[in-house]
Amino acid sequence: MAPQNQRAIIIGGGIIGGVAAYFLHQKGWSVTIVEKDRFGYGASHGNCGLVVPGHVDPLNSPENLIKGIGWMLKKNAPLFIRLRTDAAWARWMLQFIRHCFGSHRQVSAAGRAALMTETISLYDTLIKTEGIDCHWDTPGTCHLFRSKKDFAAFRATNHFQAYVGYKVKPLIGAPLHDLLPTISPEVVGAWHDRQAALLRPDAFMRGLAGVLKNKGIEIVEQTEFIGFNREYGRAVAARTDQGVFAAEAFVVATGAWTAMLSDALGCRIPIQPGKGYSVTFRRPANSPTLPCFFEEQRVVLTPWSDSLRLGGTMEFSGFDDNLNPFRLATLFRALKQYLPLSIPDQIEEEWCGWRPITWDGLPIIDHLPDFENVVLAVGHNELGLTMAPATGQLVAEMTSQESLHIDPSFYQIDRLF
Ligand SMILES: Cc1cc2nc3c(=O)[nH]c(=O)nc-3n(C[C@H](O)[C@H](O)[C@H](O)COP(=O)(O)OP(=O)(O)OC[C@H]3O[C@@H](n4cnc5c(N)ncnc54)[C@H](O)[C@@H]3O)c2cc1C
Repeated sequence: MAPQNQRAIIIGGGIIGGVAAYFLHQKGWSVTIVEKDRFGYGASHGNCGLVVPGHVDPLNSPENLIKGIGWMLKKNAPLFIRLRTDAAWARWMLQFIRHCFGSHRQVSAAGRAALMTETISLYDTLIKTEGIDCHWDTPGTCHLFRSKKDFAAFRATNHFQAYVGYKVKPLIGAPLHDLLPTISPEVVGAWHDRQAALLRPDAFMRGLAGVLKNKGIEIVEQTEFIGFNREYGRAVAARTDQGVFAAEAFVVATGAWTAMLSDALGCRIPIQPGKGYSVTFRRPANSPTLPCFFEEQRVVLTPWSDSLRLGGTMEFSGFDDNLNPFRLATLFRALKQYLPLSIPDQIEEEWCGWRPITWDGLPIIDHLPDFENVVLAVGHNELGLTMAPATGQLVAEMTSQESLHIDPSFYQIDRLF
């Protein structure tokens, strides 16, 4: 297919849709993004902003399963599951558990690594070429532990980091205190990951919107996709609550909401919304310059030049958009336990968003079975920011029917049927 002057519609204006638009435009497509709310205000807005290629190990593991069961019984745990009886949830849960065992974890790690290995250099090129002002930096990260057992067990991570070609290094005693002078004496050790970058996600999404608009890409907000008009196995137009958008090709990048579009897409997409919280505040004196993971609490601290963000928690409670004050307080409790800092009264933003969680830790990047010209790019789990550039390139190649730079078999939709 020669894309020159052909139109592609992208449904969903998060980071996956936005970056896919960028690469489709590079290949000569005329692109329109259709967004039900505002561009960049889904999960891509208030996340922790870390680009972490080493995080190839999926959430599916026997260790996480055991921890998860314990967490379900605790009030201030990082995981909350609202008990439900619907069949889709039960099937998703059973499949998640199944994928904690056997070779599934290795397959998932290999598929995640393929999308993450080059991500820092891809972001570097994109941000510098387009002059996006988003606090881009490559300081690495530190994983902090209060339990000796958990600290020792983290060594196993190196097995998975080998997929992206490097290892994390242990830090204890003086070198750790030199790196993080305000660290709590209760922290027994840390693992230092030098191959990690950070950006401010809301600033990146704002900058990306400007870049896309300058290139002539149309962003149509407050417009909800409802279904496709179909002719001979192909979609010819996207129907929305604001009218019909005709095109030669379509990309669905609707994040956690994709599961609600089964009828429109012609198949069930098993994605669960994994709700997370973040709180952003002015940067206190003595703040670290290195992003930190407070491991036992699964809370992340991201420092930018003028602000700090704490983010974390995983709630499986549907699309409940209540900002639970108890959960937000959990983030501050974790900070106190690992890296006590005096928090200013003024909070910039309290936020929640939904990670698109698949049962095997892998996204779905594939043509829809019922529509040969619709590519689905969803289910990027807890790492959509990290996986976005390679996903955008892959989507552009698939849509343009070019050879693919990554083996797409990991992301096929039929593994979920
Ligand atoms: C607390 C938290 C911290 C995180 N930290 C990190 C991190 O540090 N690093 C990292 O790599 N990842 C992180 N993530 C994960 C990351 O934010 C997500 O994986 C990523 O943002 C998903 O991007 P997306 O474009 O698929 O979804 P979204 O950003 O949610 O975008 C989907 C868009 O589709 C739109 N949409 C849905 N349905 C329709 C429809 N019918 N019609 C039109 N539009 C529609 C939505 O309104 C939305 O704007 C974090 C997530 C959370 C919650």
